Amino acid sequence: QPRIVIAGAGHAGGSAAAFLRQYGWKGGITLVGEEPDAPYQRPPLSKAWLKGEATAESLALRPARFYAQHRIELRLGTRVTALDRAARQVTLSDGAVLDYDRLILALGARPRTLPLPGSGLRGVLALRGTADADALQAALGPGRRLAVIGGGYIGLEVAASARALGAEVVVIEREARVLARVAGTVLSAFLEGQHRKHGVAILTGAQVAAIEGEAGAACAVRLQDGTRLPCDTVLIGIGAAPNIELAQEAGLDCAHGILVDLAARSSDPAISAIGDCTQRPLPLYGRSGRLESVPNAIEQAKQAAADICGRPPPPPEVPWFWSDQFDLRLQMAGLAFDAHETVLRGDPDGPGFAVFHLDAEDRVLAVEAVNAPADFMAGRMLVAKQARVPRALLRDPAQPLKDLAA
Ligand code: FAD
Repeated sequence: QPRIVIAGAGHAGGSAAAFLRQYGWKGGITLVGEEPDAPYQRPPLSKAWLKGEATAESLALRPARFYAQHRIELRLGTRVTALDRAARQVTLSDGAVLDYDRLILALGARPRTLPLPGSGLRGVLALRGTADADALQAALGPGRRLAVIGGGYIGLEVAASARALGAEVVVIEREARVLARVAGTVLSAFLEGQHRKHGVAILTGAQVAAIEGEAGAACAVRLQDGTRLPCDTVLIGIGAAPNIELAQEAGLDCAHGILVDLAARSSDPAISAIGDCTQRPLPLYGRSGRLESVPNAIEQAKQAAADICGRPPPPPEVPWFWSDQFDLRLQMAGLAFDAHETVLRGDPDGPGFAVFHLDAEDRVLAVEAVNAPADFMAGRMLVAKQARVPRALLRDPAQPLKDLAA
């Protein structure tokens, strides 16, 4: 019986296994994962879970019985260490060798490390998995001081959760604004204001020189301008690097990720790659890129499963993402490459607002919405349709957008 091996039991790998069964794959499925847990959702780790508002069961992607019910063999706590494309075999860290007919690489990404003096001290943490989240949660609470290096989504979410737990928090960002890589200036300024309002100190344009220690544990972050920020925990949140080494060693085409097409095929037709480890086409934008999000992991899992089961590829989706910080629900759709102009809809000091990013021909490239789910939904449709929209209409919250998007 033909066998599919899925390397990496995260959001993408777990979803692919489920879609394969849903689409009628009758052969074997083996899901190999380095972590001890069955596939789970990472987003709550910096949000509800960190605040103690979610359970381990609620993190699980599927109930534990799902895998046996659907004849999905789980090999957890085991790493794929080598890939032999000619023999169609993978070697596992426990010594086992598995034959595959199709292989899906769903290897994810890992936190970037900071080559700084003191980065190996106790109390210097990163956040990717449940073990990291446990360590972080244990370090937070009233009277504890957290320094977050990196004002990206994970850093800001952890800062918000840490405030909810009563900790003192400083966020240290190298760029001139938080979220410089992934959000527009309006959203960045708004979030900086919100964090400050909730007692988070935000330092932008700040370069870290070293983490200082005492008896082997972090006790302060020192900036290049000499500022010393006392703390007892440091979270490094400076982005994630895709796990592509296995693919590179096997000679698959890679750039910033494993290169795939819209059927999630790598340069070897017997091997698909999905999720954070890939660099994928972005058809709406005429280029390729790496998307690190749950919606992308699910979309590519569908692409791979459809391809393997002989179904037509699903139509490309608009990339989207969400984040929760304090009482703010952030929802972003599209990518603001080559944006020419932004249009603000609503008031950042009001209950909700959205920022639309337009190209030179007034097509909506992206939308960023804060507590404005209807604008997010409409914006996502407008991006999908590559619709040209009168700016006056976008700008006026009294004008409903849903008819435009329909
Ligand atoms: P992963 O979920 O990382 O899974 C990859 C798995 O492969 C891991 O378990 C890894 O250990 C394993 N692995 C790696 N190498 C090997 C090997 N050689 N052999 C076997 N196993 C291996 N996205 C959103 O859309 N919204 C959010 O709000 C959001 N919040 C986030 C908050 C946090 C704290 C984090 C860490 C991520 C967040 N994300 C969010 C991103 C989202 O979780 C990822 O995009 C998603 O998990 C990607 O799925 P994946 O399967 O590609 O990678």
